[in-house]
Amino acid sequence: MPALDLTNHRFGRLVALYPTERRRHKSVIWHCQCDCGNIAEATVEELHKGDTRSCGCLRRETEQANLRKIYDDQRINNVNVSLITAKKRKDNKTGIKGVCYRQKINKYAAYIGVNGKQIQLGQFKNIDDAIKVRKVAEEKYYKPLLNRKKK
Ligand SMILES: [Zn+2]
Repeated sequence: MPALDLTNHRFGRLVALYPTERRRHKSVIWHCQCDCGNIAEATVEELHKGDTRSCGCLRRETEQANLRKIYDDQRINNVNVSLITAKKRKDNKTGIKGVCYRQKINKYAAYIGVNGKQIQLGQFKNIDDAIKVRKVAEEKYYKPLLNRKKK
């Protein structure tokens, strides 16, 4: 592969600064400056293909935005009206995110999804307790993720 000069070329948020001596898959690794201020390294191939368009901040921001949306959706769902209808329902859908009814044991189970994993928060006779525990878990697991970006 010819040594392509990418100096000052922009690829998404990255601006190629200078090539390093290193190669990956026979492609020259370039030292790049990301718009966010971070330094990133990407090969000529990655930059041209558009595989690498930021230091990683772009993906983090997208994930953060998705997380925020989930969090907001849950806020809207957690209105008291849904509590009343939830109690009437016999199936495991309580209408409240993170709380389901276990008919076998006649209890409400609370859980929360974090990073694709489901964390069990316990089982409760009273649905309100399950909701309370779930809310606390939301504060614990979701809030730090949302605030992580701010330094
Ligand atoms: Zn960045």
